[in-house]
Amino acid sequence: MEKWIVQYQDICRLLIFIFFFLLLATIEKKYGIWRWADKRSVRWTTHLSLALISKVTIRLIFPFLAVTTAWIAQQKGIGYFNQNPTLWIIEVILSMVFLDLVMYTQHLMMHRIKAFWRVHRVHHMDRHLDVSTGIRFHPIEEMFTMGFKLLAVAFIGAPVIAVFLYEILLNVMTMFVHMNVYIQPRFDKVLRLFMITPNMHRIHHSDYLKETNSNYGFCLSIWDKLFGTYTYRSISGDNKIYIGLEEFRYPQFKTLPNMLLVPFNPRRLKVRHRKRVPSRMKS
Ligand SMILES: [Zn+2]
Repeated sequence: MEKWIVQYQDICRLLIFIFFFLLLATIEKKYGIWRWADKRSVRWTTHLSLALISKVTIRLIFPFLAVTTAWIAQQKGIGYFNQNPTLWIIEVILSMVFLDLVMYTQHLMMHRIKAFWRVHRVHHMDRHLDVSTGIRFHPIEEMFTMGFKLLAVAFIGAPVIAVFLYEILLNVMTMFVHMNVYIQPRFDKVLRLFMITPNMHRIHHSDYLKETNSNYGFCLSIWDKLFGTYTYRSISGDNKIYIGLEEFRYPQFKTLPNMLLVPFNPRRLKVRHRKRVPSRMKS
């Protein structure tokens, strides 16, 4: 089974990605609450191109990725669980929870370290959120994320299946939390007890620094609550959050070449609270 996963991980992940991307995009087309400022086809073309460049870059730089790292670590007896085996299911669950904590930490670092924030701005300067924002990451950020993930996988000695499942979960959740949907507060409150919701992550994309620097989680909501980075409600009201970065509001930053150049752009590196123009809701 594990050998099969290592061998066919790419095609499996690609097919699952396409399925969920189309499924979530169909849902948000029907239930999308904020008006799209740009055509979805244009956004998809730009974001999918950026994602493709990022994936090709990490493929060229890393000889193997997370799932294969887990396989090699297992063969060589590297990592905590490979040296201290316990019940298989416990290893799988704890590894996935650990990887989620690592991703929370990585995201926090992207915001708190100035050099990383330069790169992460490409994701945050999107002035609209939809499922395609979930794949909008600069190649340098993807490189950093992968490096961080490989170290974590080797450290914990995660089972191959745990890494494979977590990679899929992270990919799907990243698209889900950026969806152009608004979940009814009563239901959202229940979901937030254990997972990140689009309402919760939308606050993270606020232009208000205090809110941008909060709600870092992608899958489990516990980390933000545990480490004091949880914002329950936006001061603007959850329906009126100003999305994006004011300094990159100009149309030229919507092009792929300019997005790729953003990390080298000296524009103000700090996001400040300013007069906000909320996204327009569909009538
Ligand atoms: Zn962020």
